[in-house]
Amino acid sequence: MAPLATKADLLAELRGVLGPAGCLQGADMPARNRTDWSFLPPADPLAVLRPASTSEVVAILRHCHAQGIQVTPQGGMTGLCGGARPLDGGVALSLERMSGVEAIDPHGMTMTVLAGTPLETIQKAAAEQGLFFPLDLGARGSCTIGGNIATNAGGNRVIRYGMTRDLVLGLEVVLPDGTVLPMLNKMIKNNAGYDLKQLFIGAEGTLGVVTRAVLRLYPQPGCTSAALCVARDYDAVLAVLAAARQRLGPLLSAFEVMWSDYWLQATTRVPGVRAPVEIAGGSHAILIEMQGLDHVIDGARFESLLEDLMEKDLVQDGAVAQSLGDIGAFWATRDAAAEFAHPTVIGPHISFDVGLPVSQMDAFAARAKAALADQIGCQSVYYGHVGDGNLHVVAWRPGADPQPLPEASRIVYGIIGEMKGTVSAEHGIGTLKKPYLPLSRGPAEMDLMRHMKAALDPQDLMNPTKIFDGSP
Ligand code: FAD
Repeated sequence: MAPLATKADLLAELRGVLGPAGCLQGADMPARNRTDWSFLPPADPLAVLRPASTSEVVAILRHCHAQGIQVTPQGGMTGLCGGARPLDGGVALSLERMSGVEAIDPHGMTMTVLAGTPLETIQKAAAEQGLFFPLDLGARGSCTIGGNIATNAGGNRVIRYGMTRDLVLGLEVVLPDGTVLPMLNKMIKNNAGYDLKQLFIGAEGTLGVVTRAVLRLYPQPGCTSAALCVARDYDAVLAVLAAARQRLGPLLSAFEVMWSDYWLQATTRVPGVRAPVEIAGGSHAILIEMQGLDHVIDGARFESLLEDLMEKDLVQDGAVAQSLGDIGAFWATRDAAAEFAHPTVIGPHISFDVGLPVSQMDAFAARAKAALADQIGCQSVYYGHVGDGNLHVVAWRPGADPQPLPEASRIVYGIIGEMKGTVSAEHGIGTLKKPYLPLSRGPAEMDLMRHMKAALDPQDLMNPTKIFDGSP
């Protein structure tokens, strides 16, 4: 392709290919395409491009490759690390017009979808066929499967079904130069050479654009049980986790823990959140969920587990959900963090998504809480997908605007580095966590990542400056 004279020429060409609805500029560019939930300031891209097909994605990438224009893929813009925030002067490539379920195979238990399909649409389409797509997170109504794949999203049921990586059988990806990789595998077993799709899962849009996916479905659970329990201390939490794994086996679908300060913020300040159990300082609230096959048999199994926990004095107080409404109310305590930004709850705050061995979480929480308070006057609360080794931290200096993000990050990630944890368990690196990635990845790993990026994207045009900077 012969180089065009200016960026204006490029956009005129692309408008010809995509039509006016596919190429938005100036005041027509929606605010939502300028930044994500990282709350980084809005960017000023050249254009928001909205392809309606894989061939239009190919056309965009070929043009941008030829002209040296940086491209940032975008899904639902719910990412928390700045990964989908476009670059000033680059283009945003939004998958929002590439949405829809293309096929469901009830025998092979697969679903083929376009990358811009919202997660909730996929969950509902599976349920209509009596099937189940287990990925679930608070942003389900807005996030897209392409974004879930690009961030290797985790969410609420990882302990049973794994991360997004475990739920993807095949992908169609367009490489930075416009080459299409049609890897729409539908089989669980396929050892024919490298499993190339895994390269793009969790790559945060830095290696190519995901345009289609084949997802793995499961049978609809026959019944769901949930309980909220209170454990006196973290040793008891670990004992409850071991018992739940032993007694429920693969039926255990969630094991979420809220430290007492988090519980207090959630249940006393967030409107609509009820406290079905009493919790004292130093103790932990545990949400245990089981997805079973048979209400009578598995329901009895769940109740017997709880009786046993009470008898052994591992839990001090407990409530068992009697209805789907109760299960929703229990999850509302866990999901209350989404409301913490409201000024009547906590207001501006800093969120962390760290990972470390389950046995070390309480020690980490105690160290981080003390260091944040003593060194920079920050309060902090702790909760997370403890069964998956994933802890979330919410920290804030009351009244501060802006919040002390670099100082708090240095403290939290410094402790994580010393404890050999990870600076990102599920949200990704984006731009926000870039300086801290070397705390979780050694020099040889960083070098290999840069070599892989350079091999697929030698001009560094595909979502550059995300995850890490520069070439090898
Ligand atoms: P975006 O924010 O649009 O993009 C995220 C990244 O993926 C960017 O780097 C972008 O460039 C890239 N990308 C997007 N689409 C494509 C594509 N088609 N091809 C290539 N690259 C692409 N995350 C969890 O893991 N677990 C949770 O429990 C969780 N809970 C959340 C709750 C709330 C209330 C919110 C706001 C967010 C939560 N998140 C959670 C974070 C977020 O929802 C996930 O990261 C989600 O997977 C992002 O999807 P998205 O479509 O919004 O992607």
